[in-house]
Amino acid sequence: MKNILILGGGFGGLTAVSFFRTHIKSGKVSVTLIDKNNYSLFTPMLAEVVSGNVKPENIVFPLREICVKNGVRFIKDEVQNIDTIANKVTCENGEYPFDYLIVATGSRTNFRGNVSAMKNAFEFKNITDAIHIKYLIIDFLEKASTLTDPEEKKRLLSFSIIGGGITGVELASEMNDYIRAKIKKEYSTIMADEYDITIFEYSKTVLPAIDPSQAEKAQEILIKNGINVINGASVDEVGLDCITYKKDGQQYTKSSSVTVWTAGVEGQEYLKEMGGDTTPDSRLKITRSLNPQALDAPHVFVIGDSCAYEFKGKFLPPVAPLAMQQAVMAVKNIMRLINGKEPVDFTYLHFGYLVSLGKNNSVVNLFGIKMRGALAYYIWKGAYLFKIGMFKKQVAVFFDWVMSFCFGNESVLIIDQDNCTNCILQKNHKNDKENAAVECVACILCITYNTYMRCNDAHSKIAGRD
Ligand SMILES: Cc1cc2nc3c(=O)[nH]c(=O)nc-3n(C[C@H](O)[C@H](O)[C@H](O)COP(=O)(O)OP(=O)(O)OC[C@H]3O[C@@H](n4cnc5c(N)ncnc54)[C@H](O)[C@@H]3O)c2cc1C
Repeated sequence: MKNILILGGGFGGLTAVSFFRTHIKSGKVSVTLIDKNNYSLFTPMLAEVVSGNVKPENIVFPLREICVKNGVRFIKDEVQNIDTIANKVTCENGEYPFDYLIVATGSRTNFRGNVSAMKNAFEFKNITDAIHIKYLIIDFLEKASTLTDPEEKKRLLSFSIIGGGITGVELASEMNDYIRAKIKKEYSTIMADEYDITIFEYSKTVLPAIDPSQAEKAQEILIKNGINVINGASVDEVGLDCITYKKDGQQYTKSSSVTVWTAGVEGQEYLKEMGGDTTPDSRLKITRSLNPQALDAPHVFVIGDSCAYEFKGKFLPPVAPLAMQQAVMAVKNIMRLINGKEPVDFTYLHFGYLVSLGKNNSVVNLFGIKMRGALAYYIWKGAYLFKIGMFKKQVAVFFDWVMSFCFGNESVLIIDQDNCTNCILQKNHKNDKENAAVECVACILCITYNTYMRCNDAHSKIAGRD
């Protein structure tokens, strides 16, 4: 029986797990999944956690439960190194041998060397990032509601998103819908023009990766909804409460109490050590049959955000359908190799894109059919509800939507702030990261915040090495 190891239980890893199911039953292979978390995140709905449209626990999938159902062994551990000659993976807590390997550990935030952003901007990759941003919005709304100076209120309620790709646009739209609804219904001392959400985008419109006509329309819709978009902007410095950026050769500074960085991703650090060819954003270049280029390792497959796959002269952007399609092909090629056959080449089938622009608005391109507006929005909802793939989570998300549609979203802070001297909600949320990490034990938010800071520390170390 061949021993197969899958690293990472995200879109790619979980698709591989389900496609191995019949081969596991037939006794040909034994499969182990390793992930540093014991859950998988459905990222397309992460922005809806910020607005409260969906509950955080409803867009995470229990990896152990899924693995048990599929006859796969699950290990919670963090990958540190892969040896493709000795055929073993080294993790934080042990070493794991393999006959065949699928690498699907996704990506991390690419701060593009901007040290101030690494230090002061929030990432938007994990469930905890979404919870922090939501809590900060609510806390700042509470504080602003007691202020009388409009300028002071506006400074406190200045939110910035760096990067106008799908993630940035969807986050800005959800934040905007949420804040607008809250101000209208519950924070009557805050006026609609006393908050500000700004997207900083280097290209001439937001969503530079989609059809230009749809991107232009999307930008118009965002602006009409009250979101500020600054195009041609290159952000130089992210401070604790301001951003410095260049546009048309001029330098500007803008208030920003919460800055979220969504301007790109890069491969995991350990991929660089594998010895294969990588792109400048640390993704491993792969062959047409999904093996790492420049490594003689036909039994190792790299898929999803971790790989750079060239198609029609360009590296494909890291999206979920690519990871899932590559996972299917990796399983197929592993089984072909086990059965003494040659592997086959991967071809990407591009379905289009779905981008939510907030309540009742989306831009969609499905198999070349372009749509906008309310119909596109309900197509977005239906498609992603279907894509969740796990029945109990589909039911839970559907009911979350029904509840928020009927009764609106709540703005409660469920934390024990009084007993927590270094809580992120005390004074300035980012003021004292180091102390907060060491001293804070009291509130649930700080416990998750510590995870965020470990992550940031890792980035600082990487930056130091570079
Ligand atoms: C906010 C957000 C919104 C998005 N929206 C969309 C969208 O609408 N449509 C779309 O197509 N794509 C979207 N994406 C991109 C999409 O999520 C990724 O392209 C997709 O998740 C890639 O799949 P993957 O399997 O390569 O990695 P992932 O799904 O990221 O899975 C990687 C897994 O590896 C684990 N892991 C990472 N490092 C290690 C390690 N060292 N050791 C062990 N385990 C590790 C992680 O815990 C994770 O479970 C979005 C991304 C984000 C962040």
